[in-house]
Amino acid sequence: MAKTIIISNRLPVQLQISNGDITAVPSVGGLATGMKSVHSGGDSLWIGWSGLTDEEIPEELVPKIDSALAEHGSSKVNLTEKEVDGFYYGFSNRTIWPLFHYFLEYSEFELDSWETYKAVNQKFADAILEKANNEDTIWIHDYQLMLVPQMVRAERPDISIGFFLHIPFPSYEIFRTLPWRREVLQGLLGSDLIGFHTYDYERHFLSSVRRLLGLEVSFNDIYLDDRVIKVDSFPMGIDYKKFSDAAKEHSQRTEDQKSELQKRLDTHKKSAPDAKFFLSIDRLDYTKGIAKRLNAFEYFLKKYPQYKEKVRLIILAVPSRSNVPQYQLLKREVDELVGRINGELSTVSWTPIWYFYRSMPFENLIDLYTSSDIAWLTPIRDGMNLVAKEYIATRTDKTGVLILSEMAGSANEMNESLLINPNNFEQI
Ligand code: UDP
Repeated sequence: MAKTIIISNRLPVQLQISNGDITAVPSVGGLATGMKSVHSGGDSLWIGWSGLTDEEIPEELVPKIDSALAEHGSSKVNLTEKEVDGFYYGFSNRTIWPLFHYFLEYSEFELDSWETYKAVNQKFADAILEKANNEDTIWIHDYQLMLVPQMVRAERPDISIGFFLHIPFPSYEIFRTLPWRREVLQGLLGSDLIGFHTYDYERHFLSSVRRLLGLEVSFNDIYLDDRVIKVDSFPMGIDYKKFSDAAKEHSQRTEDQKSELQKRLDTHKKSAPDAKFFLSIDRLDYTKGIAKRLNAFEYFLKKYPQYKEKVRLIILAVPSRSNVPQYQLLKREVDELVGRINGELSTVSWTPIWYFYRSMPFENLIDLYTSSDIAWLTPIRDGMNLVAKEYIATRTDKTGVLILSEMAGSANEMNESLLINPNNFEQI
Protein backbone atom coordinates (compact mmCIF):
# COMPACT_ATOMS: atom_id res chain seq x y z
CA MET A 1 0.00 0.00 0.00
CA ALA A 2 1.26 3.48 -0.86
CA LYS A 3 2.26 5.56 2.14
CA THR A 4 3.11 9.19 2.84
CA ILE A 5 6.63 9.83 4.08
CA ILE A 6 6.97 13.08 6.01
CA ILE A 7 10.50 14.42 6.44
CA SER A 8 11.49 17.28 8.70
CA ASN A 9 14.55 18.19 10.69
CA ARG A 10 12.91 17.19 13.99
CA LEU A 11 10.55 14.30 14.63
CA PRO A 12 7.08 14.82 16.16
CA VAL A 13 8.48 13.35 19.37
CA GLN A 14 11.60 14.32 21.28
CA LEU A 15 13.68 11.64 22.97
CA GLN A 16 14.97 12.11 26.47
CA ILE A 17 17.37 9.80 28.27
CA SER A 18 17.03 9.59 32.02
CA ASN A 19 18.35 6.88 34.33
CA GLY A 20 19.37 4.78 31.34
CA ASP A 21 15.85 4.74 29.97
CA ILE A 22 14.19 6.44 27.02
CA THR A 23 11.07 8.55 27.03
CA ALA A 24 9.44 10.13 24.00
CA VAL A 25 7.62 13.44 24.54
CA PRO A 26 5.66 15.36 21.87
CA SER A 27 7.58 18.15 20.11
CA VAL A 28 6.27 21.71 20.39
CA GLY A 29 6.08 24.22 17.55
CA GLY A 30 4.01 24.91 14.50
CA LEU A 31 5.38 22.28 12.14
CA ALA A 32 5.06 19.33 14.51
CA THR A 33 1.59 20.33 15.65
CA GLY A 34 0.35 21.09 12.15
CA MET A 35 1.54 17.86 10.56
CA LYS A 36 0.46 15.56 13.39
CA SER A 37 -3.08 15.17 12.05
CA VAL A 38 -1.74 14.14 8.63
CA HIS A 39 0.62 11.70 10.29
CA SER A 40 -1.99 10.07 12.50
CA GLY A 41 -4.67 10.05 9.78
CA GLY A 42 -3.32 7.33 7.49
CA ASP A 43 -0.46 5.10 6.51
CA SER A 44 2.53 7.31 7.07
CA LEU A 45 6.12 7.32 8.21
CA TRP A 46 7.90 10.37 9.67
CA ILE A 47 11.65 10.62 9.17
CA GLY A 48 13.73 13.14 11.10
CA TRP A 49 16.46 13.75 13.62
CA SER A 50 15.66 12.54 17.14
CA GLY A 51 17.13 15.58 18.90
CA LEU A 52 19.98 13.49 20.37
CA THR A 53 23.42 13.37 18.76
CA ASP A 54 25.26 10.08 18.17
CA GLU A 55 27.58 11.01 21.05
CA GLU A 56 24.60 11.33 23.42
CA ILE A 57 23.09 7.95 22.60
CA PRO A 58 24.66 4.98 24.40
CA GLU A 59 25.12 2.01 22.03
CA GLU A 60 22.97 -0.29 24.16
CA LEU A 61 19.96 2.07 23.93
CA VAL A 62 19.83 2.13 20.11
CA PRO A 63 17.34 -0.79 19.74
CA LYS A 64 15.12 0.72 22.46
CA ILE A 65 15.16 4.09 20.71
CA ASP A 66 14.29 2.56 17.37
CA SER A 67 11.33 0.70 18.82
CA ALA A 68 10.15 3.76 20.84
CA LEU A 69 10.18 5.78 17.61
CA ALA A 70 8.52 3.01 15.60
CA GLU A 71 5.61 3.17 18.05
CA HIS A 72 5.13 6.78 16.92
CA GLY A 73 5.43 5.85 13.22
CA SER A 74 8.84 7.50 13.15
CA SER A 75 12.32 6.63 12.03
CA LYS A 76 15.46 8.57 12.89
CA VAL A 77 18.34 10.05 10.94
CA ASN A 78 21.56 9.84 13.00
CA LEU A 79 23.58 13.02 13.33
CA THR A 80 26.89 13.64 15.07
CA GLU A 81 27.49 16.71 17.21
CA LYS A 82 29.67 18.16 14.46
CA GLU A 83 26.94 17.65 11.89
CA VAL A 84 24.33 19.31 14.11
CA ASP A 85 26.70 22.25 14.60
CA GLY A 86 27.38 22.83 10.92
CA PHE A 87 24.00 21.88 9.49
CA TYR A 88 21.54 23.07 12.14
CA TYR A 89 23.20 25.77 14.24
CA GLY A 90 25.39 26.73 11.30
CA PHE A 91 23.91 26.91 7.81
CA SER A 92 20.23 26.56 8.78
CA ASN A 93 20.17 29.01 11.66
CA ARG A 94 23.04 31.40 10.95
CA THR A 95 22.65 31.66 7.19
CA ILE A 96 19.19 30.73 5.92
CA TRP A 97 17.05 31.74 8.92
CA PRO A 98 18.34 35.34 9.21
CA LEU A 99 18.59 35.81 5.44
CA PHE A 100 15.06 34.59 4.72
CA HIS A 101 13.74 36.85 7.54
CA TYR A 102 15.54 39.90 6.05
CA PHE A 103 18.17 40.06 8.82
CA LEU A 104 20.99 40.35 6.31
CA GLU A 105 23.40 41.68 8.90
CA TYR A 106 23.08 38.44 10.93
CA SER A 107 23.67 36.12 7.97
CA GLU A 108 27.02 34.31 7.91
CA PHE A 109 28.24 32.71 4.71
CA GLU A 110 30.66 29.95 5.76
CA LEU A 111 31.80 27.37 3.24
CA ASP A 112 32.26 24.70 5.95
CA SER A 113 28.66 25.05 7.14
CA TRP A 114 27.41 24.84 3.58
CA GLU A 115 29.40 21.63 3.01
CA THR A 116 27.94 20.11 6.18
CA TYR A 117 24.44 21.21 5.13
CA LYS A 118 24.89 19.38 1.82
CA ALA A 119 26.22 16.23 3.49
CA VAL A 120 23.42 16.14 6.07
CA ASN A 121 20.76 16.76 3.39
CA GLN A 122 22.23 13.73 1.59
CA LYS A 123 21.83 11.71 4.81
CA PHE A 124 18.14 12.63 4.97
CA ALA A 125 17.74 11.76 1.27
CA ASP A 126 19.42 8.38 1.84
CA ALA A 127 17.09 7.68 4.77
CA ILE A 128 14.10 8.37 2.50
CA LEU A 129 15.49 6.24 -0.33
CA GLU A 130 15.95 3.35 2.05
CA LYS A 131 12.27 3.42 3.14
CA ALA A 132 10.42 4.65 0.03
CA ASN A 133 8.62 2.67 -2.66
CA ASN A 134 8.00 4.28 -6.03
CA GLU A 135 4.28 4.73 -5.39
CA ASP A 136 4.82 6.54 -2.06
CA THR A 137 4.39 10.29 -1.64
CA ILE A 138 7.35 12.13 -0.15
CA TRP A 139 6.59 15.33 1.76
CA ILE A 140 9.70 17.30 2.70
CA HIS A 141 9.53 20.19 5.19
CA ASP A 142 11.31 23.42 5.67
CA TYR A 143 14.51 25.35 5.26
CA GLN A 144 16.82 22.77 6.80
CA LEU A 145 16.15 20.32 3.95
CA MET A 146 16.01 22.37 0.75
CA LEU A 147 18.45 20.14 -1.17
CA VAL A 148 16.67 16.88 -0.34
CA PRO A 149 14.04 17.01 -3.15
CA GLN A 150 16.67 16.95 -5.92
CA MET A 151 18.76 14.33 -4.08
CA VAL A 152 15.76 11.99 -3.98
CA ARG A 153 14.72 12.83 -7.55
CA ALA A 154 18.19 11.92 -8.85
CA GLU A 155 17.71 8.33 -7.64
CA ARG A 156 13.93 7.98 -8.14
CA PRO A 157 12.90 10.09 -11.14
CA ASP A 158 9.23 9.02 -10.98
CA ILE A 159 8.44 9.36 -7.29
CA SER A 160 6.01 12.11 -6.10
CA ILE A 161 7.73 14.78 -4.04
CA GLY A 162 6.17 17.77 -2.29
CA PHE A 163 8.07 20.47 -0.42
CA PHE A 164 6.69 23.04 2.02
CA LEU A 165 8.61 26.06 3.30
CA HIS A 166 7.46 27.13 6.78
CA ILE A 167 9.37 30.44 6.77
CA PRO A 168 9.21 33.40 4.36
CA PHE A 169 10.89 33.17 0.97
CA PRO A 170 12.63 36.55 0.63
CA SER A 171 12.59 38.87 -2.33
CA TYR A 172 15.10 38.22 -5.13
CA GLU A 173 17.30 41.14 -4.03
CA ILE A 174 17.84 39.44 -0.67
CA PHE A 175 18.00 35.86 -1.92
CA ARG A 176 20.63 36.64 -4.53
CA THR A 177 23.16 37.58 -1.84
CA LEU A 178 23.44 33.87 -0.93
CA PRO A 179 26.63 32.40 -2.44
CA TRP A 180 24.88 29.04 -3.04
CA ARG A 181 21.62 30.50 -4.38
CA ARG A 182 21.52 28.40 -7.58
CA GLU A 183 22.19 25.13 -5.73
CA VAL A 184 19.38 25.89 -3.26
CA LEU A 185 16.89 26.58 -6.07
CA GLN A 186 17.99 23.47 -7.96
CA GLY A 187 17.57 21.42 -4.78
CA LEU A 188 13.99 22.65 -4.33
CA LEU A 189 13.15 22.04 -8.00
CA GLY A 190 13.51 18.30 -7.46
CA SER A 191 9.92 18.57 -6.13
CA ASP A 192 6.68 18.19 -8.12
CA LEU A 193 4.88 20.70 -5.92
CA ILE A 194 6.41 23.49 -3.83
CA GLY A 195 4.23 25.20 -1.22
CA PHE A 196 4.53 28.50 0.65
CA HIS A 197 2.40 30.18 3.32
CA THR A 198 1.57 33.25 1.23
CA TYR A 199 1.34 34.41 -2.37
CA ASP A 200 4.15 36.91 -1.75
CA TYR A 201 6.64 34.18 -0.75
CA GLU A 202 5.53 32.21 -3.81
CA ARG A 203 6.09 35.09 -6.21
CA HIS A 204 9.50 35.91 -4.68
CA PHE A 205 10.51 32.30 -5.28
CA LEU A 206 9.26 32.30 -8.89
CA SER A 207 11.11 35.54 -9.53
CA SER A 208 14.37 34.03 -8.23
CA VAL A 209 13.89 30.90 -10.36
CA ARG A 210 13.34 33.01 -13.46
CA ARG A 211 16.20 35.39 -12.86
CA LEU A 212 18.84 33.08 -11.42
CA LEU A 213 18.17 29.91 -13.42
CA GLY A 214 16.62 31.46 -16.54
CA LEU A 215 13.79 28.89 -16.50
CA GLU A 216 10.46 29.37 -18.20
CA VAL A 217 7.75 30.25 -15.67
CA SER A 218 4.08 30.50 -16.64
CA PHE A 219 1.69 31.60 -13.89
CA ASN A 220 2.65 29.13 -11.16
CA ASP A 221 4.21 26.44 -13.36
CA ILE A 222 7.95 26.07 -13.83
CA TYR A 223 9.21 24.19 -16.89
CA LEU A 224 12.37 22.19 -16.28
CA ASP A 225 13.52 19.63 -18.87
CA ASP A 226 10.52 17.34 -19.34
CA ARG A 227 8.91 18.18 -15.99
CA VAL A 228 6.39 20.81 -14.88
CA ILE A 229 6.81 21.93 -11.26
CA LYS A 230 3.78 23.49 -9.58
CA VAL A 231 4.21 26.28 -7.07
CA ASP A 232 1.34 27.47 -4.87
CA SER A 233 0.42 29.03 -1.55
CA PHE A 234 -1.12 26.96 1.24
CA PRO A 235 -1.43 29.12 4.37
CA MET A 236 -0.98 26.86 7.35
CA GLY A 237 -3.87 26.75 9.79
CA ILE A 238 -4.45 25.34 13.24
CA ASP A 239 -6.67 22.65 14.71
CA TYR A 240 -9.41 25.20 15.38
CA LYS A 241 -11.73 22.76 17.11
CA LYS A 242 -9.05 21.60 19.51
CA PHE A 243 -8.47 25.18 20.69
CA SER A 244 -12.07 26.30 20.75
CA ASP A 245 -13.28 23.12 22.52
CA ALA A 246 -10.52 23.46 25.11
CA ALA A 247 -11.50 27.10 25.72
CA LYS A 248 -15.16 26.15 26.21
CA GLU A 249 -14.20 23.34 28.55
CA HIS A 250 -11.96 25.69 30.60
CA SER A 251 -14.78 28.22 30.93
CA GLN A 252 -16.94 25.59 32.65
CA ARG A 253 -14.33 24.41 35.13
CA THR A 254 -15.07 24.54 38.83
CA GLU A 255 -12.60 26.17 41.19
CA ASP A 256 -11.10 22.76 42.02
CA GLN A 257 -10.58 21.86 38.38
CA LYS A 258 -8.71 25.08 37.53
CA SER A 259 -4.94 25.11 37.12
CA GLU A 260 -2.71 27.02 39.55
CA LEU A 261 -1.99 29.53 36.79
CA GLN A 262 -5.70 30.10 36.13
CA LYS A 263 -6.37 30.62 39.84
CA ARG A 264 -3.61 33.26 39.96
CA LEU A 265 -4.92 35.00 36.86
CA ASP A 266 -8.44 35.01 38.37
CA THR A 267 -7.16 36.45 41.65
CA HIS A 268 -5.54 39.34 39.82
CA LYS A 269 -8.66 39.95 37.73
CA LYS A 270 -10.78 40.04 40.87
CA SER A 271 -8.46 42.44 42.67
CA ALA A 272 -8.59 44.90 39.75
CA PRO A 273 -11.67 44.21 37.63
CA ASP A 274 -10.91 47.07 35.18
CA ALA A 275 -7.36 45.94 34.55
CA LYS A 276 -6.47 44.46 31.17
CA PHE A 277 -4.04 41.68 30.35
CA PHE A 278 -1.87 42.02 27.25
CA LEU A 279 -0.44 38.69 26.10
CA SER A 280 2.54 37.95 23.92
CA ILE A 281 3.77 34.43 23.17
CA ASP A 282 6.80 33.78 20.98
CA ARG A 283 9.95 31.71 20.78
CA LEU A 284 12.76 33.92 22.00
CA ASP A 285 13.87 34.89 18.50
CA TYR A 286 15.14 38.20 17.12
CA THR A 287 12.55 37.98 14.32
CA LYS A 288 9.72 38.27 16.86
CA GLY A 289 10.39 41.88 17.89
CA ILE A 290 10.22 41.20 21.64
CA ALA A 291 12.61 43.96 22.71
CA LYS A 292 10.82 46.57 20.58
CA ARG A 293 7.53 45.49 22.13
CA LEU A 294 8.91 45.90 25.65
CA ASN A 295 10.24 49.34 24.82
CA ALA A 296 6.85 50.26 23.37
CA PHE A 297 5.10 49.06 26.52
CA GLU A 298 7.33 51.22 28.68
CA TYR A 299 6.73 54.19 26.36
CA PHE A 300 2.97 53.61 26.54
CA LEU A 301 2.98 53.61 30.34
CA LYS A 302 5.06 56.78 30.48
CA LYS A 303 3.02 58.60 27.86
CA TYR A 304 -0.32 57.54 29.37
CA PRO A 305 0.35 57.21 33.10
CA GLN A 306 -3.40 56.79 33.73
CA TYR A 307 -2.94 53.19 32.56
CA LYS A 308 -0.51 52.37 35.36
CA GLU A 309 -1.97 49.58 37.48
CA LYS A 310 -4.63 49.17 34.77
CA VAL A 311 -2.66 47.03 32.32
CA ARG A 312 -0.26 44.15 32.63
CA LEU A 313 1.88 42.55 29.96
CA ILE A 314 2.27 38.77 30.16
CA ILE A 315 5.26 37.67 28.10
CA LEU A 316 5.84 34.00 27.43
CA ALA A 317 9.21 33.61 25.72
CA VAL A 318 10.00 30.04 24.75
CA PRO A 319 13.73 29.15 24.85
CA SER A 320 15.11 28.61 21.36
CA ARG A 321 18.52 27.94 19.69
CA SER A 322 20.41 29.06 22.76
CA ASN A 323 23.70 27.87 21.16
CA VAL A 324 23.58 30.70 18.62
CA PRO A 325 25.25 33.93 19.87
CA GLN A 326 22.48 36.29 18.68
CA TYR A 327 19.97 34.34 20.75
CA GLN A 328 22.15 34.60 23.85
CA LEU A 329 22.45 38.35 23.36
CA LEU A 330 18.71 38.65 22.89
CA LYS A 331 18.06 36.68 26.07
CA ARG A 332 20.24 39.10 28.00
CA GLU A 333 18.59 42.13 26.39
CA VAL A 334 15.07 40.91 27.22
CA ASP A 335 16.03 39.94 30.80
CA GLU A 336 17.52 43.39 31.34
CA LEU A 337 14.61 45.27 29.79
CA VAL A 338 12.03 43.41 31.87
CA GLY A 339 14.10 43.98 35.01
CA ARG A 340 14.56 47.67 34.31
CA ILE A 341 10.95 48.39 33.38
CA ASN A 342 9.57 46.45 36.34
CA GLY A 343 12.13 48.09 38.61
CA GLU A 344 11.20 51.58 37.46
CA LEU A 345 7.43 51.32 37.23
CA SER A 346 6.22 48.69 39.71
CA THR A 347 4.13 49.73 42.71
CA VAL A 348 3.47 47.75 45.88
CA SER A 349 0.36 46.28 44.31
CA TRP A 350 1.34 46.10 40.64
CA THR A 351 4.10 44.65 38.46
CA PRO A 352 3.74 45.82 34.85
CA ILE A 353 5.32 42.77 33.21
CA TRP A 354 5.03 39.11 34.06
CA TYR A 355 7.83 37.34 32.22
CA PHE A 356 8.01 33.58 31.74
CA TYR A 357 11.10 32.14 30.01
CA ARG A 358 10.02 28.56 29.40
CA SER A 359 7.51 26.59 27.39
CA MET A 360 4.08 25.90 28.84
CA PRO A 361 1.82 22.89 28.43
CA PHE A 362 -1.24 23.20 26.22
CA GLU A 363 -3.59 23.56 29.23
CA ASN A 364 -1.73 26.67 30.43
CA LEU A 365 -1.63 28.18 26.96
CA ILE A 366 -5.43 27.95 26.91
CA ASP A 367 -5.54 29.66 30.34
CA LEU A 368 -3.41 32.50 29.01
CA TYR A 369 -5.33 32.88 25.76
CA THR A 370 -8.75 32.87 27.43
CA SER A 371 -7.70 35.24 30.25
CA SER A 372 -6.01 37.90 28.11
CA ASP A 373 -7.94 40.86 26.75
CA ILE A 374 -5.37 41.69 24.11
CA ALA A 375 -2.95 39.51 22.14
CA TRP A 376 -0.01 41.70 21.15
CA LEU A 377 2.01 39.99 18.43
CA THR A 378 4.50 42.27 16.73
CA PRO A 379 7.09 40.19 14.87
CA ILE A 380 9.54 42.08 12.65
CA ARG A 381 9.14 39.20 10.19
CA ASP A 382 7.29 35.89 10.63
CA GLY A 383 6.49 33.15 8.10
CA MET A 384 2.97 32.68 9.49
CA ASN A 385 2.45 33.13 13.29
CA LEU A 386 0.05 30.47 14.51
CA VAL A 387 -0.29 32.07 17.95
CA ALA A 388 -2.49 34.75 16.34
CA LYS A 389 -4.86 32.08 15.01
CA GLU A 390 -4.85 30.15 18.28
CA TYR A 391 -5.77 33.27 20.26
CA ILE A 392 -8.78 33.95 18.06
CA ALA A 393 -9.87 30.30 18.19
CA THR A 394 -10.04 30.42 21.99
CA ARG A 395 -12.14 33.63 22.17
CA THR A 396 -15.36 31.65 22.17
CA ASP A 397 -17.30 34.53 23.78
CA LYS A 398 -16.16 36.73 20.85
CA THR A 399 -14.30 39.21 23.06
CA GLY A 400 -10.62 40.07 22.79
CA VAL A 401 -8.44 42.21 20.55
CA LEU A 402 -5.67 40.97 18.30
CA ILE A 403 -2.89 43.44 17.55
CA LEU A 404 -0.83 41.85 14.80
CA SER A 405 2.21 42.79 12.78
CA GLU A 406 1.74 43.26 9.04
CA MET A 407 4.99 41.36 8.62
CA ALA A 408 3.48 38.08 9.82
CA GLY A 409 2.14 35.72 7.15
CA SER A 410 -1.09 35.39 9.14
CA ALA A 411 -1.79 39.13 8.65
CA ASN A 412 -2.78 38.25 5.06
CA GLU A 413 -5.68 36.20 6.34
CA MET A 414 -6.54 38.12 9.51
CA ASN A 415 -7.22 41.59 8.29
CA GLU A 416 -9.97 42.24 10.84
CA SER A 417 -7.27 42.41 13.49
CA LEU A 418 -5.49 45.67 14.35
CA LEU A 419 -2.60 45.50 11.90
CA ILE A 420 0.52 47.46 12.77
CA ASN A 421 3.90 48.03 11.18
CA PRO A 422 6.36 46.71 13.79
CA ASN A 423 8.92 49.35 12.80
CA ASN A 424 6.47 52.12 13.59
CA PHE A 425 7.06 52.56 17.30
CA GLU A 426 4.12 54.94 17.86
CA GLN A 427 1.82 52.51 16.11
CA ILE A 428 2.87 49.56 18.28
N1 UDP B 1 3.68 26.87 21.86
C1 UDP B 1 3.79 25.77 22.67
N2 UDP B 1 4.24 25.95 23.96
C2 UDP B 1 4.56 27.18 24.45
C3 UDP B 1 4.44 28.30 23.61
C4 UDP B 1 4.00 28.11 22.32
O1 UDP B 1 3.49 24.65 22.26
O2 UDP B 1 4.96 27.29 25.61
C5 UDP B 1 3.19 26.66 20.48
C6 UDP B 1 2.06 27.59 20.09
O3 UDP B 1 0.83 27.07 20.58
C7 UDP B 1 2.17 27.58 18.57
C8 UDP B 1 3.67 27.35 18.32
O4 UDP B 1 4.23 26.96 19.57
O5 UDP B 1 1.45 26.52 17.99
C9 UDP B 1 4.38 28.57 17.79
O6 UDP B 1 4.08 28.73 16.44
P1 UDP B 1 4.24 30.12 15.67
O7 UDP B 1 3.83 29.89 14.26
O8 UDP B 1 3.49 31.22 16.37
O9 UDP B 1 5.78 30.49 15.80
P2 UDP B 1 7.13 29.66 15.46
O10 UDP B 1 7.68 29.24 16.79
O11 UDP B 1 6.75 28.50 14.58
O12 UDP B 1 8.05 30.67 14.81
